[in-house]
Amino acid sequence: MSVLIFAEGVDKSIKKSSLEAVSAGFALAQKLNTEAIAIAIGDYDTAALQELGKAGAKKVIHVTAGVPAYPSALAYASVLAGAAKEVGATVVLLSKSALGDGIVARLSVQLNAASATGVLAVPEVNGDSLKVKKSIYTGKAFADLSLSGAVKVISLAKNAVPLKEDGAAATVESKTYPVSDLAGKLVHQKEEKASGDILLTEADIVVSGGRGLKGPENWGMIEELAKILGAATGCSKPVSDLDWRPHHEHVGQTGVKVSPNLYIAIGISGAIQHLAGVSGSKVIVVINKDPEAPFFKAADYGIVGDAFEVVPKLIEAAKKL
Ligand SMILES: Cc1cc2nc3c(=O)[nH]c(=O)nc-3n(C[C@H](O)[C@H](O)[C@H](O)COP(=O)(O)OP(=O)(O)OC[C@H]3O[C@@H](n4cnc5c(N)ncnc54)[C@H](O)[C@@H]3O)c2cc1C
Repeated sequence: MSVLIFAEGVDKSIKKSSLEAVSAGFALAQKLNTEAIAIAIGDYDTAALQELGKAGAKKVIHVTAGVPAYPSALAYASVLAGAAKEVGATVVLLSKSALGDGIVARLSVQLNAASATGVLAVPEVNGDSLKVKKSIYTGKAFADLSLSGAVKVISLAKNAVPLKEDGAAATVESKTYPVSDLAGKLVHQKEEKASGDILLTEADIVVSGGRGLKGPENWGMIEELAKILGAATGCSKPVSDLDWRPHHEHVGQTGVKVSPNLYIAIGISGAIQHLAGVSGSKVIVVINKDPEAPFFKAADYGIVGDAFEVVPKLIEAAKKL
């Protein structure tokens, strides 16, 4: 018996959300009286793999051979199914992402497992079942689910579980597993790298701008504030539709869903479709000149004021910090 955690990476580093999943796997393994084993697929150096040990993995399985060079849910699901059977995993954990969603669906079929995505905390053990909480209806309600059966496949929402950083060094083992023939049928994949230093979906802080900023020429102050705070930049849909900002920054129901510790919304009205993408944020700060803007109802802190006066003052204050 074990808890197997898939560690997803970007640019040869393990994503923070995956390290959180390993920390959750460690906590769950303790409850189940077993061990957490991480599995990383692709090109990582020893230092990157040891981050998994610090996050709580006792052992790391490293798969480099026999898998496509690009992240493939089809291929990775077969690798994870092989690894899960080999290590006798009763739970497979991963972080919620576009890749993760594709893996959960395929892997739960291959392992005949109960599954849940976007889970908000370390699952609770209830006999042979696991109780999990997830948000539903674009963040307007919570569902408590009970997963039964011999194997469970679960993805965790980002920022749902604190990162453990004091784990011991993990043993690293290189392995190969059979990959589904179907994976080879995907012959071409174009990859477009998102601009910006910090990935929007991984960010702890997001500074987001809306149509209230009047035009792309005014984004300098948004970028400056984001830089000082170590944040990623986001925007509302009309802003990306108008080509003021790239489409990968568009947050909301039809864009990226974010769950940072702090979401700062500047000149965004707070339409329901935008709120659907930010409801997982821990703290929301809204800056809007209209005191009746709907976003204030969803805000933890609000500043009623002109963004062109408030943001430069925030930048000055943030610089002093
Ligand atoms: C099917 C569908 C899907 C959609 N999906 C999404 C989505 O995923 N994401 C999304 O964002 N939208 C989405 N929308 C659009 C959504 O309904 C809103 O139209 C959009 O979010 C509004 O963007 P905004 O708040 O930037 O602009 P506006 O509605 O124009 O609001 C601008 C805000 O800026 C404030 N403002 C103006 N000047 C200043 C200033 N100087 N200082 C401070 N504040 C100022 C105004 O008071 C106002 O509240 C969708 C719509 C549909 C129909």
